[in-house]
Amino acid sequence: TERTLVLIKPDGVERGLTGEILRRIEAKGYTFAELRKQQASAEQLAAHYAEHEGKPFYQPLVDFMLSGPVVAAVVTGNEVIKGFRSLAGATDPTGAAPGTIRGDLGRDWGEKVQKNLVHGSDSVESAEREISIWFG
Ligand code: ATP
Repeated sequence: TERTLVLIKPDGVERGLTGEILRRIEAKGYTFAELRKQQASAEQLAAHYAEHEGKPFYQPLVDFMLSGPVVAAVVTGNEVIKGFRSLAGATDPTGAAPGTIRGDLGRDWGEKVQKNLVHGSDSVESAEREISIWFG
């Protein structure tokens, strides 16, 4: 069993998709070890997105992530890191496959790559680092 850090970004919370997104995770057979709605802090986001610092989308992304509450979860299950990224779909909702969270629920206009509903860790190392950022 593995664990991953999932965030429902402010667009997902704002649009009332928290339940739908959690339902998909749970229906897949994964378990919520931790689940908390919270307002992210600038410090958490600086740590979370450290690898993107200096990129043109960094500050808009951080500002967006501060614009409203997020739902943070530690999700556990067999190969859940890869599995959740598969459930989430491609980063750009326009190219995300139907059946995925971003493909079914993501918007095809506006700041769609930034407002792509969810985040999931991309490796065991990232997952442990991110879980400590969001859950101490
Ligand atoms: P995540 O890690 O959130 O699941 P990802 O691994 O597919 O997404 P990354 O490359 O790690 O994507 O980028 C992290 C986040 O930064 C993306 O989810 C997206 O919100 C934002 N982002 C990435 N590239 C761009 C871009 N070109 N323009 C705007 N936002 C971007």
